[in-house]
Amino acid sequence: RVEVDGLWRSFDGERVVDDVSLSISAGQLTCLLGPSGCGKSTTLRMIAGVDRPDGGTIRLDGEVICDPVGSLPPEDRSVGLMFQDFALFPHLDVAGNVAFGLNGARSARRSRVRDLLDRVEMGRHIDAYPHELSGGEQQRVALARALAPKPRVMLMDEPFSGLDNRLRDEIRDQTLDLLKEEGTAVLLVTHEPDEAMRMADEIALMRGGRIVQRGVPYNIYNAPVDRDAAAFFSDIN
Ligand code: ATP
Ligand code: MG
Repeated sequence: RVEVDGLWRSFDGERVVDDVSLSISAGQLTCLLGPSGCGKSTTLRMIAGVDRPDGGTIRLDGEVICDPVGSLPPEDRSVGLMFQDFALFPHLDVAGNVAFGLNGARSARRSRVRDLLDRVEMGRHIDAYPHELSGGEQQRVALARALAPKPRVMLMDEPFSGLDNRLRDEIRDQTLDLLKEEGTAVLLVTHEPDEAMRMADEIALMRGGRIVQRGVPYNIYNAPVDRDAAAFFSDIN
């Protein structure tokens, strides 16, 4: 479980993330949804530990991993990352990419890699190199790689935006199934309301650096907090 409390960040004197509080439970997918530039990626980067907040606290399973006093480095945060342009390592084959973050006995690593690749239907590409794979195949491998070390939290920033429609639906479903099976807490960043409606257990609607509404998709859609929120959802079909 991740708990974010009063997080803020400013660039050039302007708060792009302003008093954001969020919680993400194990086995749940929380969507951070909002228009371009509202501060979604900045929020995610601070949770990942690759950017430093100006204030606020982040807890992972009750333990403070970031506050005004100190900050745990990203590699110690038990966080998996998946971005649209978060490339695979080009010099490693599929198995090597998925095994990259794994420690422990060779046989255990190998069975974890094989199991994950089978579950994303990439088992037969285990020896392929990234440049031999389609974009969708690369995203499946990226998902397997991110989940391999069993992170407690998965942070995903528009991971499906480079894919065509049909493939996107398929990979969304597969991703959801795998994340639920693994029981990971997930924060998915998107600017697409329909993606949030499809995938989220809870939506946090963001605007101008602030969370303006939180709730289950049904309630956010049916009872938007204001006209801007209603307009934002109005082009879903
Ligand atoms: P998008 O949907 O387009 O990805 P976003 O919600 O992810 O948008 P952010 O990337 O978090 O938005 O950016 C929020 C604001 O902060 C933007 O105005 C952006 O220009 C600004 N910003 C982000 N990073 C920096 C930086 N390193 N230096 C200066 N300004 C920044
Ligand atoms: Mg962004």
